[in-house]
Amino acid sequence: MDPIRIAVVGVGKIARDQHLPAIAGNGAFGLAATVSPHDPGVDGVPHFASLDELFASGPAVDAVALCTPPQVRYDLASTALARGVHVFLEKPPGATLAEVAALETQADKVGATLFAAWHSRFAAGVAPARAWLAERRIDNVEIIWREDVRVWHPGQAWIWEPGGLGVFDPGINALSIATRILPRPIFLQSGTLEIPANRAAPIAADLSLRDSTGASVHMDLDWRQTGPQSWDIVVETDAGTLKLSSGGAVLTLPTGTSHDEDHEYPGLYARFATLIRTGRSDVDVTPLRLVADAFLRATRVSVEPFED
Ligand code: NAP
Repeated sequence: MDPIRIAVVGVGKIARDQHLPAIAGNGAFGLAATVSPHDPGVDGVPHFASLDELFASGPAVDAVALCTPPQVRYDLASTALARGVHVFLEKPPGATLAEVAALETQADKVGATLFAAWHSRFAAGVAPARAWLAERRIDNVEIIWREDVRVWHPGQAWIWEPGGLGVFDPGINALSIATRILPRPIFLQSGTLEIPANRAAPIAADLSLRDSTGASVHMDLDWRQTGPQSWDIVVETDAGTLKLSSGGAVLTLPTGTSHDEDHEYPGLYARFATLIRTGRSDVDVTPLRLVADAFLRATRVSVEPFED
């Protein structure tokens, strides 16, 4: 089978750290081009300043991986789908729920694959956590996602703009895991968003959610954490405590702890290849819907300005 000719669009931090290595390590794909307005791309691979330039004068591609900020993703995805090109959407899949729905409809119409990728769902502990929780009574869930924005997002202006999600940029990873491992739907009851006076997006959030049986799910997100960072989900059940830590990589059950090798992006690209080969899409907006609900339902509090 010929490799799927793919272009990486938006050569920034995640494209360089994860997408390019994952594509290089998967024989189902061949890197045909890169697209980025300012980045020079990769030695020996055709590079274009825009997707329109690639389509106008570049090599043929079967698929694009959109690694740009979410605010510009709809137009790029729609342009690609209009040509029947398969689309991999980095998380979050869009800046609004309605634009993602429009892309899903467009993909169905043209028979191309649309993949809304949630990389944290491919962390090593997530599938076994889901299996273990499937038979349990859930009593309480605590999600603690606290990191230092200056370490992880230095100078990323887009992340503080409308549609950039602020602290929900990492927080949506926690929600992607929670909505994957918990056996029942969760939804927001109340919350607080702390928004720096000079920014459009929250630097911290405290959310109270519940599942359909009434089990409490509490979420504590904060970008002002210095020192040790926390990416933990703790689930109390009738059979003891489950803890997923290090963003889903480490799973602790009453029987012991497991820590397997990281395979998030290789897992995503294996899934994308399967979706393309079998003519399907995978677009789950549940984590983005919960973030949208937080913006809809939580109380906003103005806090001190944030400077990079
Ligand atoms: P980033 O470092 O700011 O990179 C984004 C890149 O997108 C920029 O380098 C920019 O390219 C490019 N870009 C902007 N507008 C474009 C357009 N119209 N066409 C083509 N390229 C465009 O951001 P990032 O951290 O990689 O994050 C990108 C996405 O990945 C976000 O949705 C984020 O949530 C997600 N993500 C990030 C991480 C992470 O650890 N950083 C992890 C997982 C997922 P130029 O520099 O060439 O202008």
